[in-house]
Amino acid sequence: MMNEFDHELTQRLDGIRQQGLLRELRRVDSPQSPRIEIGNRTLLNFSSNDYLGLANEPTLKEAAIRAVERYGAGAGGSRLICGSLAPHQELDETLAAFKGTEAAISFSTGYAAAMGAIGALLGKDDFLILDKLVHACIVDAARLCGAKLRVFGHNDLNDLEAKLKWAAERVQGPKSGVQSRKARTLVVTESVFSMDGDHAPLREMVELKEQYGAWLMVDEAHATGLYGAHRRGLAEELGVSHRIEVQMGTLGKALGASGGYICGSRALINYLINRARTFIFSTAPVPAAAAAATAGVRFVESSAGEERRNKLWRNVPTLPSTISAQLSTSRSAIIPILIGEEDKAVEAATALREQGIFIPAIRYPTVARGQARLRLTLSATHTDADLSQLITALKALDFRL
Ligand SMILES: *Cc1c(COP(=O)(O)O)cnc(C)c1O
Repeated sequence: MMNEFDHELTQRLDGIRQQGLLRELRRVDSPQSPRIEIGNRTLLNFSSNDYLGLANEPTLKEAAIRAVERYGAGAGGSRLICGSLAPHQELDETLAAFKGTEAAISFSTGYAAAMGAIGALLGKDDFLILDKLVHACIVDAARLCGAKLRVFGHNDLNDLEAKLKWAAERVQGPKSGVQSRKARTLVVTESVFSMDGDHAPLREMVELKEQYGAWLMVDEAHATGLYGAHRRGLAEELGVSHRIEVQMGTLGKALGASGGYICGSRALINYLINRARTFIFSTAPVPAAAAAATAGVRFVESSAGEERRNKLWRNVPTLPSTISAQLSTSRSAIIPILIGEEDKAVEAATALREQGIFIPAIRYPTVARGQARLRLTLSATHTDADLSQLITALKALDFRL
């Protein structure tokens, strides 16, 4: 007999299933690479954020192994207590040098970086302005920090300006007298959007936030390692890095390891060390994770990193635009194939798996309802033969029903 608790949860799960939204874990028995093993089958993998193929790169693995041998398996505490091990310090220094900022601080995940930074910078008297499509960790941070929130239409500069005006009118309004500092406005966007692969108009956004005296935070999760002369991200490519107060990114995507980071001024980083709760009240990542991430950054900085990046950009245009009617014009390793109905997206993903291709169906709440899609991602390590196999399989399915 099922108890009441489990009975209720089972009913809730049935509701999720009926909407075509049930998610289940799929065990993978191989490292991340163009081929992965799932359920005793080898599938061509077009699902990973490992854009440069670093997750299984020997130099990263060796760095992790050396860190385990030298510093052990666990960190033993938060970094402010006793866990700020040499590999963490080295990672922070390497990140700052890579991004060309005064300082950097790493977090155990990108999720924790967003929660920590936004929660530290804003309180309930402040104003937060988000692009409609920012990642869940930014949405959750917004809720938690309690700032007055406005969402602007995706990449819509006119709407952003309207929201900046809304905040500016209130920031300059009469003070209640209880607040000890000036109210602030923070705008947050991704640079390359995780589910659509399109780019934020960062130059124009920087102009606007300066005009209205707001701060800007840019999440480069899907751009770090891929864009700009030094592969620092889209802000570098657009020449606006030095005008962005808070530069965020992840270490688990193109950088091949795991974790998140914030880069910026020394003052910002010192402030986060004192105020970012996800940093202060959380055990430091295992030394192996920090060492692998440092090796990932060094790889990206090297000429081998440049070659990988160039190989990725050679792979992208080999996909014919007929495969995806809404294929964005922005250069991106993320290629959404919009399907719409949740069930249909799952069916398409299943049909592709039968043909040996792994591309996940992405559904609500990751994307809006009725916006279900296949999220195809390319890696520098896909070969021409892999791409031909992909195109054949995609053509066999008629997406534009
Ligand atoms: C993946 C992702 C994050 C979260 O990073 P994790 O290290 O996976 O926690 C944050 N922002 C964006 C845009 C992401 O895609």
